[in-house]
Amino acid sequence: MSQPEVRVRYAPSPTGYPHIGNIRTALFNWLFARHTGGRFIVRIEDTDQSRKVEGAVEQILESLRWLGLDWDEGPEAGGDCGPYFQSQRLDRYQRHARRLVESGHAYPCYCSAERLAQMRARMAERKESQRTYDRHCRDLGAEERARLEAQGTVPVIRFRVPESGQTTFHDLIRGDITFANAELDDLVLLKSDGYPTYHLANIVDDHEMGISHVMRADEWLSSTPRHVLLYAASGWTPPLYAHLPMILGPDKSKLSKRHGATALLEYRDEGYLPEAIFNFLALLGWSLDDKTDIIGRADLISSFSLERISRTAAVFDIKKLQWMNGFYIRQCSPGQLAQRALPFFERELPAGVKRPLDLEYLGRVAALLRERAKTLRELPASSGYFFVDEVDYPVDLLLQGGLAVERGRGLLQACVPLLEAVPEFDAASLEAPLRALAEESAVKTGELFGLLRVAVTGRTAAPPLFETMVVLGRERCLGRVRLAAARLAAAGA
Ligand code: GLU
Repeated sequence: MSQPEVRVRYAPSPTGYPHIGNIRTALFNWLFARHTGGRFIVRIEDTDQSRKVEGAVEQILESLRWLGLDWDEGPEAGGDCGPYFQSQRLDRYQRHARRLVESGHAYPCYCSAERLAQMRARMAERKESQRTYDRHCRDLGAEERARLEAQGTVPVIRFRVPESGQTTFHDLIRGDITFANAELDDLVLLKSDGYPTYHLANIVDDHEMGISHVMRADEWLSSTPRHVLLYAASGWTPPLYAHLPMILGPDKSKLSKRHGATALLEYRDEGYLPEAIFNFLALLGWSLDDKTDIIGRADLISSFSLERISRTAAVFDIKKLQWMNGFYIRQCSPGQLAQRALPFFERELPAGVKRPLDLEYLGRVAALLRERAKTLRELPASSGYFFVDEVDYPVDLLLQGGLAVERGRGLLQACVPLLEAVPEFDAASLEAPLRALAEESAVKTGELFGLLRVAVTGRTAAPPLFETMVVLGRERCLGRVRLAAARLAAAGA
């Protein structure tokens, strides 16, 4: 027997910018679709018009694109089950709500907002029930209904939830889960303005779009018995469910803004690479073998499985993400790194630096700077000396290592002919004569190299000296060494 086709969906509500948790849901669905050769569908759940956030849909799609989570059906891509915006599917929900009323599984409720508020206050006072509706309209007679209709009261449609019994469903990650029906409300399916609630739109679409597996965040688990009952009332087979473990901050509270950047694209703007975020997110609740940290995209696709999604909450560890990002930064070729780091250099380098920056040169600079960088954004920090003609620094900095003025000047001057003479201006050719100079002059190599480092970079901390000099080039180094010697001479005079 052939397996039914896997069709999974990412169904965000555009009520805010997608954060790590939302996108982890998208990634797991995508990985499952790609692993099984199924289809990944994006559906925008935009029926709550009052909570809609301007620009959120664009952010959602841009986040997916940035991570390379391509979708087979959805906004922009189209597909046979469109439209993929719920706000464009209202007639379908209305039709289905009517069907449920006709079959006796749902009923119109005419209760006013005031009545509901009073009822809730009363129920809360008496600590009667966890429910939010007393089922007042559940069994209204036809006459009473007609009277209310004649008054022009527009009803909502509520689901007639069984009053007793239990609802059990199987979750692929957590096993069988049972809820007592008595705990469930007669929830609203269709609001009086003709818009569906999340529950109605969600089940209609999952059914009509042929969704095979619903993989979503843990927080939706309590909605699932309602959905299972709605499927049964509709005469439909529910999809398979897999509720993903929660993501906690390092302090073990639910992940929130306090734990760092929240919108996914903020990580992009901070200089995280999409492949690092991709790898990191995949391990938030899934693991290959409990020890492998670095897993590339292709390996994640081939090894992803629902069986290895954990039941326990995942902990978001920013230090791990930074470490991973550093790893992926060091994986880039100088050319790739230059391309990717360009916007950060463009933004961070002082206005006086000549633009456009030369990409070949930038690649060589970035390859040097990246050794300790955790983000692309850190690369341009304190690297201005690679881009300006002259470096500026307090002259005392040259003598940091404890050298006397005259001695420092003499050493720098002795460097000049050496730098002029090396046949190839590369790290290996520079090292030997400079070490020999230190020895002849009876200074520690550290003292000489420290002096040179300040002369050529204006800083006491920089990437390895010889590699830095090679990138700067012979002429620029010579100019800076001569200038440093002249400054010491002036200082000593
Ligand atoms: N629109 C819901 C959300 O934003 C989708 C929940 C679901 O996947 O069923 O999370």
